[in-house]
Amino acid sequence: MTAISLGIPSVPTRLAERRKSRQIQVGTVAVGGDAPVSVQSMTTTRTSDIGATLQQIAELTASGCQIVRVACPTQDDADALSTIARKSQIPVIADIHFQPKYVFAAIEAGCAAVRVNPGNIKQFDDKVKEIARAAKDHGTPIRIGVNAGSLDARLLKKYGKATPEALAESALWEASLFEEHGFQDIKISVKHNDPVVMVEAYRQLAAQCDYPLHLGVTEAGPAFQGTIKSAVAFGALLSQGIGDTIRVSLSAPPVEEVKVGNQILESLNLKPRRLEIVSCPSCGRAQVDVYKLAEEVTAGLEGMEVPLRVAVMGCVVNGPGEAREADLGVASGNGKGQIFVKGEVIKTVPESKIVETLIEEAMKIAEQMEADGIASGEPSVSVAG
Ligand code: SF4
Repeated sequence: MTAISLGIPSVPTRLAERRKSRQIQVGTVAVGGDAPVSVQSMTTTRTSDIGATLQQIAELTASGCQIVRVACPTQDDADALSTIARKSQIPVIADIHFQPKYVFAAIEAGCAAVRVNPGNIKQFDDKVKEIARAAKDHGTPIRIGVNAGSLDARLLKKYGKATPEALAESALWEASLFEEHGFQDIKISVKHNDPVVMVEAYRQLAAQCDYPLHLGVTEAGPAFQGTIKSAVAFGALLSQGIGDTIRVSLSAPPVEEVKVGNQILESLNLKPRRLEIVSCPSCGRAQVDVYKLAEEVTAGLEGMEVPLRVAVMGCVVNGPGEAREADLGVASGNGKGQIFVKGEVIKTVPESKIVETLIEEAMKIAEQMEADGIASGEPSVSVAG
């Protein structure tokens, strides 16, 4: 039987098809091709302090980080790599600047990939043949990580500054040197601290190669500014299908980077959604303290993995509508909260009982979702006013 269109427009779940990139394997995580966009971060500990580094990696893993990078500025750090790579639950990438000898050490140590910055590794181009051979022998992908702040002197001279063209050309030049030695196990980043330049650099790069791209706004700043810059830049690129793995750089604990990265991907439906709180901004009509309510519900449901959407609304204008759309919700008025589950009012409770009732109901729904095998997908908790 042919389906009859009733003229109801469908709601898009994704903004764009992913750019077709080649796929590489970073340890257990595939990057590029049809692999989901992954979230990375970087440790802030001294890598030579193996215990502290593994502890931070464990925290990052628990917060949803899929790939971790560690700095390797000294021989002590290089010596620590094999233990860290072996004991980490997620793939470890060694981040190498200046000293080519550490590139070889990281490959030998069994790191899942090595990031090189061709702009500041001395005579990097002369070393490409040896690096390509070592990386090929060990099956280690290389990330060519171009940074505006350490752009190759030749390109700086040619373009005058780190323009999008200069960043893309630098990365593609280095990739071509690897290609000459039959090595294409590569991903690329072209980071800049200005989201506009960064977005344009990645667009140009995406049009000129099929390597998987690691997105990053470098030196994005403290948490608030860095979050906005990264969300805007990644959103612009990911909404066009560009980007295979992301790292949010914040002057804040790395776990915060991972939370922001995951939230960006969830917002664009590039990652299954988990708990989502839909809460109104509150206004002069609010009859409850929406901020407090939303915060308490969020805190009470923290860590919930199922795609629950909870609506917390301050009054009856949009409250019942939003609360009905959510898996669970409250619409407040007259010191009371109407509790909705799947669109039905199940009870009305005094304001003082709203939070505990929502949490109780959320737990029941989550249990049912788990029993039904719904691990992730469309979240449904909202707070309306
Ligand atoms: S739901 Fe009510 S309280 Fe919240 S912003 Fe809208 S009108 Fe204001």
